[in-house]
Amino acid sequence: MSLRREFDYLIPPEFETHLTVGSRVKVPFGSREVLGCVLAIVDESPHANLKPIAKVLSGLAPITPTILKLASWISEYYCCSIDTILKTVLPEAVRREEAGWRERLVVRLIKVEGAQQTATKRQQLILDSLQANGEVPLQKFLAEARTSSSTLRRMEEQHLLEIVSVVSERDPYANETIIPTKPLPLNPAQAVALAEVRKSMDASAGHTFLLHGVTGSGKTEVYLQAIRHALDCGKGALVLVPEISLTPQTVERFKARFSHGEHSTMVAVLHSHLSAGERHDEWQKIREGRARIVIGARSAVFAPVESLGLIVVDEEHEHSYKQEEAPRYHARDVAVYRGVVDKAVVVLGTATPSLESYHNALSGKYSMLKLPERADNAKLPMVRVIDMRSEGRKAKGPPIFSEQLKEAITQRLERREQTMLFLNRRGYASSLQCPLCGYVAGCPNCSISLTYHRAEQRLRCHICGHAEKTPSICPQPKCRNPAIRFSGLGTEKVEETLHKMFPKARVARMDSDTLRRKEDYREVLGNFKAGRIDILVGTQMIAKGLHFPNVTLVGIIHADLSLHMPDFRAAERTFQLLTQVSGRAGRGDVEGEVFVQAFTPFAPAIQYARRHDFEGFYDAEIEFRQQLGYPPFARVALLTVRGKDEEKTKWCSDYLRAELDKAVAGDDSWKDLIIAGPAPAPLLKAETYFRFQIMLRHRQMSRLSKLLKRVTGELRMPKEVFMAVDVDPASLQ
Ligand code: ADP
Ligand code: ZN
Repeated sequence: MSLRREFDYLIPPEFETHLTVGSRVKVPFGSREVLGCVLAIVDESPHANLKPIAKVLSGLAPITPTILKLASWISEYYCCSIDTILKTVLPEAVRREEAGWRERLVVRLIKVEGAQQTATKRQQLILDSLQANGEVPLQKFLAEARTSSSTLRRMEEQHLLEIVSVVSERDPYANETIIPTKPLPLNPAQAVALAEVRKSMDASAGHTFLLHGVTGSGKTEVYLQAIRHALDCGKGALVLVPEISLTPQTVERFKARFSHGEHSTMVAVLHSHLSAGERHDEWQKIREGRARIVIGARSAVFAPVESLGLIVVDEEHEHSYKQEEAPRYHARDVAVYRGVVDKAVVVLGTATPSLESYHNALSGKYSMLKLPERADNAKLPMVRVIDMRSEGRKAKGPPIFSEQLKEAITQRLERREQTMLFLNRRGYASSLQCPLCGYVAGCPNCSISLTYHRAEQRLRCHICGHAEKTPSICPQPKCRNPAIRFSGLGTEKVEETLHKMFPKARVARMDSDTLRRKEDYREVLGNFKAGRIDILVGTQMIAKGLHFPNVTLVGIIHADLSLHMPDFRAAERTFQLLTQVSGRAGRGDVEGEVFVQAFTPFAPAIQYARRHDFEGFYDAEIEFRQQLGYPPFARVALLTVRGKDEEKTKWCSDYLRAELDKAVAGDDSWKDLIIAGPAPAPLLKAETYFRFQIMLRHRQMSRLSKLLKRVTGELRMPKEVFMAVDVDPASLQ
C-alpha cells in the first residue's frame, strides 16, 4: 500500500550536521521501522510528541533539490502521490538500505622482501603472470592461469600474494572497443543551430529550442558539439532517447566522442535492460560526478546530474516518453520544466515535431531551429504511394506485395542492395474466423481478437499475453465447421511469403517475438549491417534511428493500419511513422526509394508524408484540432474507471461524472471546461477489467489538475473498482 501523506519527525542532535533535504532515513512507524526520504527540514511542527529519526543512511543524499522540485511538480500536475513518484525517480537498487556495490575477490602481489625466493617453479609462473597483469579477479585468474584455489590459498599463507575483496564497478559496455571520433565541420544550418544553443547556454536562462531537422540532417552532430560546450563550461548534459532507439549504435556515438582513455566513465547509460546492479553503479557514477553525460530512456530525466547545462530530448514526438502507469508523466515535458529549474538549455530534436511542440515554437514559447537538408548531401528518398484497392481488384483479394514493390525488391536483390519492409503488426494472422457462423477467436480477458502465431502454433492476445491452442475446427458447438480460416496479416506471414517468393534471398524478421534476449537485437542488426541479410522485415522496432547506408528500398506493407484508430492523434501518428520509416532509405551514396502501400492512399497524412511536407501536414491538422478543441488548443485529462463487474464499474463512472459536474456547477470560470462521457473505452475490456472513460478538456491544465485532485481525493470507490487519472494522455485506449 502506498501512503499519500508526509510525516514529521524530530532530528536528534547527532544527525543535525549531516542530514539534508533528500537524505534517506530510517524512522519508527507504528511498531516497525521503515525507510523514508527527507522532503523538508522545518523549525516547527503542528504535531506534538514527535518521534526521533532512528538512522540516517550513509552516502550522498540520493535525492537532490532539483529532483525534489521535479517530484513535487509532477505530483501537482499529474495528480499523483509523492511517494509513487519517488519510486520512479530513484532506481530500486539505490533505494535499498545497504549500498548496492558489487564486491569481488581479486588476486594481487604483495611485496615482502625475500618471500619470493622461497617460491617453487610452479609458484613462480603464477607470480610472473601477476606481475605482468597486475590485479586480477580471482575467478578469471583460476580459469586462465589453470591453477586451483588451494594453490593460491597456500601462496597467500606464504605471503606471496593476497586475495582481497574490492568494490568492482559493473560496466555494461566493458567489452566494447570504441574508436574515438572528432567533431565534424558543421554545415551552415547546423552552425546556426549550435551557435544559438551555445549563446543560450552561456546566458543560463533555461530556454527551450525545437530542433526540426529532416532525418539524416545531422541533429546528433549538433547535440554532440553542444555537449562539448557544456563540458567546457564545467556543466553536465542529459540526453534522452526513446527506449527503442537506445541501441548500441546510438550509445556508441556518444561514447566515441567523450568516453575513452582517462575519461572512460564520462558517459553513463540508463535504460531498462540494465541489471539492478548495473543501474546502481551507473547511477552512483552520476551522483558522484564522475559521469558528466547521461544518456538514457524516459526515467533518465531524473538522473542526478549536478550543474546541468544541457538537456537533449531526441525524437521528442515519441509517445514512449509518456509513462503509461502512475506517475503518468511525460519525460519531454518534465525535461522542459527541469530546464527551468536547473537553468539548463533544452533541445527538443525531431524530424516530425509533435503538434504541441511545433505550436509552442510558432507561438514563441520555444525557439525554432531548422535543418532542412540531409547533412551528407544524400537526397531524401523518392516516395511512391500504391493504391492497394486497385491491386485488390486484379486478383482474388489484395496481395501482400503489389507488383511494383515485388519488382523493386527483385531489383535490389540483383544489385546486392538491401531492403527493409515494415508492418506494424506482429504474428502471422490477425484473427481466426469461421466463415459459416461468424465466430472470431477472441481473448477471454480482453475485448480483442487473438493473433495467430505460426511458429509456436498458438493464438495469442497482444494485450494481456493470454495464449491458447489453435482449434482445427470451429469451436462453436452448433457449427463445428472444419473450414475455419485465418485473416489479416502480420510480420510472420510477410516473412514466410518472402521466403516463397524469393527462395534465394536471406530474410530476417525483427519484432518482439523474435527478440527475446537483449543480445538478439544486436546480433540481427550486426548481421544486417555486415550485409549477411538481404531483406529485413519488422515492426516499428526497425523504424527508428537506424543508419544503414546500403538500404536503398523501404516498403510499408499496410500504411493505413494506424490511421483508422479512434484517437485524435491517429493522423499525426501515421504521418510520423511514415516519415521515420522512409528516413531509413538512401542514407548512403545511392538514392533511396520508398513504397507505401495503402487502402486510403489519398489520406492527408499519407500524401504529406509522401512529399516530406511537415509544414503542410501541420497546417491541415492544426485546423482540425482547433475546430474540435483538441490539444494543443486545450489540454486533455482522461479518467478511467475499471473493475471486473461491468455494471458496477459503469455505475461508478456515472457517479464520478456527477461529482465532477457538481464541483464546477454555477462557477463561471469553468464555463469552457468540456466533459465527455463516461463512455466505454475503445478497448472496453482489457486484462479482465471493464473500463469506462471520462474525458475532460480545458485550456489551463494546472487548474484542472487541482480540481481533479480534490474531487478524486474525496471520492470513495467501492472495493475492486479503481480509478486512474491520466493528464495529457498519449493513448486513448
Ligand atoms: P540525424 O540525427 O538528424 O538523423 P545524423 O546525426 O545521424 O542525423 O547524421 C546523418 C549522417 O550525416 C551521419 O552519418 C553523420 O555522420 C553525417 N553528418 C552529420 N553532420 C555532418 C557534417 N557537418 N558534415 C558531414 N557529415 C555529417
Ligand atoms: Zn487478452
